[in-house]
Amino acid sequence: MKAKIFFWTTCIGLLLASPAEAAEVAIAIHGGAGTITREAMTPEREQAFREKLEEAIRAGHRVLSEGGTSIEGVRAAINIMEDSPLFNAGKGAVFNAAGQNELDSSIMDGATLNAGAVAAIHRIRNPIDLAIAVMNQSRHVMMIGDGAELFAQEQGFEFVDPSYFRTEHRWEQLQQAKAEETAGIFQPQSFFSTVGAVARDQNGNLAAGTSTGGMTNKRFGRVGDSPIIGAGTYANNDSCAVSATGHGEFFIRYVVASNICTRVAAGASVAEAGNAVINDILVKAGGDGGVIIMGGDGSIAMPHNTAGMYRASINTQGELFIGIYGEDS
Ligand code: ASP
Repeated sequence: MKAKIFFWTTCIGLLLASPAEAAEVAIAIHGGAGTITREAMTPEREQAFREKLEEAIRAGHRVLSEGGTSIEGVRAAINIMEDSPLFNAGKGAVFNAAGQNELDSSIMDGATLNAGAVAAIHRIRNPIDLAIAVMNQSRHVMMIGDGAELFAQEQGFEFVDPSYFRTEHRWEQLQQAKAEETAGIFQPQSFFSTVGAVARDQNGNLAAGTSTGGMTNKRFGRVGDSPIIGAGTYANNDSCAVSATGHGEFFIRYVVASNICTRVAAGASVAEAGNAVINDILVKAGGDGGVIIMGGDGSIAMPHNTAGMYRASINTQGELFIGIYGEDS
């Protein structure tokens, strides 16, 4: 009898003493979708993208594995892509019609539904950091232009000269778009290289973030989907976290990110919800692009209706995936 009581009290004691089991972490990132084909790619360029995607996904995953929040994981991955001239975010952002880099970014916390966004900023090296500051340090969700930069100054952000963002490659893309415009050729943009990340941390909390220069030759003052909560970015622990890349006007009209999460909340898997919106609704509407999705259980989907999408993930099993072309899986 005594032995039995000892056994059960020990069991209960151990149960009470053991900490709640940490959730498995997971992360997915994108570096833009578009007509990315093997024929149009050099081995050197492909290698450069693969290495940068791996560096970014591993940085985000490391933060999550060490107990960082999903917001911190998203930020770590996005910062690396913002600092790389390969992607249309931070350094290497596309130019608007006025020859400027106008940057947009947003972040959302799936545990609290807190969110932060900035649009049309010119001098902040890592726009995702300012979006996070808007979320954490202000009463607001979105700030734009001069007001956003004044807020950044008050928050002690370091400013870079606008020329920091310039790359020759993006400048040439603008010249080409302008020449086509002058010649009356309307070429819808077929390549998007915005960056984004979605993550699940050890507490099972989700987050999503997106950062971009927008679309080449966009009008001065145009804002796309990337900083719009619900369109380019959305996160809710009860359903999923989404970051988008593509033709922003369509992603705004079809409220793509929250549309996907609403479907997940209604019982669809992340793959089903993503396919319905990206490969059916958007295709019918004529909107090119893709998304990365993280479910509450750490499930990942990365649907896109373009030939390719720069993307990477580390799932709850710790397995790394890097993909560029449509057939990569
Ligand atoms: N979605 C972005 C925008 O419309 C562009 C991109 O994904 O590259 O501003």
